[in-house]
Amino acid sequence: MTTSHDDAPDEAPDDPMDLDAFRRNGHAAVDWVADYLATLRDRPVWSPVAPGDVRRALPARAPRRPEPFADMLADLDEIVVPGLTHWQHPGWMAYFPANSSPPSVLGELVSAGLGVQGMLWSTSPAATEVESTVLDWLVDELGLPSSWRVDTGPGGGVIQMSASDATHTALVVARTRATIAGAAAEDCVVYASEQAHSSIEKGARVAGIGHVRLVSTDDAHAMDPVDLSAAVAADRADGLVPMFVCSAVGTTGTTAVDPVRRIGEIARDHGLWHHVDAAYAGTAMLCPELRHLQDGLELADSYVTNAHKWLFTNFDCSLFWVADRAPLVDTLSIVPPYLRNTASESGEVVDYRDWHVPLGRRFRALKLWWVLRSFGTDGLRARIREHLAWARGLTERLEADHRFTLVAPTPFALVSVRHADPRRNTVFLDTMTAHTDLGLTASELDGQRFLRISLGATWTQQEDVDRLWQALDEAA
Ligand SMILES: *Cc1c(COP(=O)(O)O)cnc(C)c1O
Repeated sequence: MTTSHDDAPDEAPDDPMDLDAFRRNGHAAVDWVADYLATLRDRPVWSPVAPGDVRRALPARAPRRPEPFADMLADLDEIVVPGLTHWQHPGWMAYFPANSSPPSVLGELVSAGLGVQGMLWSTSPAATEVESTVLDWLVDELGLPSSWRVDTGPGGGVIQMSASDATHTALVVARTRATIAGAAAEDCVVYASEQAHSSIEKGARVAGIGHVRLVSTDDAHAMDPVDLSAAVAADRADGLVPMFVCSAVGTTGTTAVDPVRRIGEIARDHGLWHHVDAAYAGTAMLCPELRHLQDGLELADSYVTNAHKWLFTNFDCSLFWVADRAPLVDTLSIVPPYLRNTASESGEVVDYRDWHVPLGRRFRALKLWWVLRSFGTDGLRARIREHLAWARGLTERLEADHRFTLVAPTPFALVSVRHADPRRNTVFLDTMTAHTDLGLTASELDGQRFLRISLGATWTQQEDVDRLWQALDEAA
């Protein structure tokens, strides 16, 4: 460990531009990652460090002299890993998964090695065309409307950093459409259910939209379309401009599924932009047996799902589609003279800089392409089905056990449960979330706290699900 400038290095530092050293250190780094992943089950899921612990272990000043790579790897073990929450742990059942996988890691590595900027087609044609191809593949594989393919349809897909960015983008395009039609942004109203993700409210705020209405939900925590219609009518009567509605296919709280078709019909009848937030659950639509849950997508204007949650592709890799790419590009395209080029002017290419806020963009499609090729869609489907089966099995077991109460249905791989006896619930939740070889978190619904058991981490095995049941049984 070299935490002080005075330590003599154990070995001579490499020239950082020496490619032989890069090969050697690169192999050591991949070995390090493989060892890390192989030993995760023996580590506590949550980091035990206190605020400031990591900072205190780091030198006060940047190193003036080159340091050996071995020291950097040693500091990973000594300083960094103890300060991490291990999201790739086989016992990870907290929040939602943020899955990585070996092919994804290698795609990320090569993308960094290539170091290309794919802002325009002409600044790296392969980066754009691989991305368009992979997103067109996924239109078919996820059962999305075929008009969303960029090669044949008016729509198209793009990789963004996060679902929050994608939703913000959709809000900006919808706001632009409304303001061109004469509305003032501060009079515009955005609708989502009271269970919707905070990114809708945040995106509306960033986009300068005046009002956000959180529509009430039914017993299954899905948006009540009757309440949506009533809210739209009331706002219109008040002189406001209903402009955007977000349906969730899988809310963050309990993975509730809003009635996409009903909401889409209301949006169509009232001229609202209809955005579908399937950040967590969308990738599970690789399994056709789930697709009834997204019925009505042909009535959507935009859609987002995160490959960086439940598709074995490490953050960041959020997949955003629009049914019609023209208003998106019209809203975001600004062409300064230094970016003009004949390919763009030919109109025959996609310039992804016009599909999101940033100009520069990484070659993120590479890792997703490699994940799809390495697992194959059959392999991905089989893994997702295993997660779904674990969640279904656990739900049935909890349902049959008088000690537990399910607080929401289990349409995907999140099980939401509390202790049936309200007096015992706090101790139950505290016990479950204090586990160190299982990562579990609690949430709250209608004033009652509950345990979110999110199955679907890359490395979770049957033995981890068995350990979970044992822990539930003991804590109850
Ligand atoms: C996770 C999640 C988001 C936010 O995703 P980011 O990519 O982190 O912005 C939005 N909506 C839903 C339903 C989610 O589950």
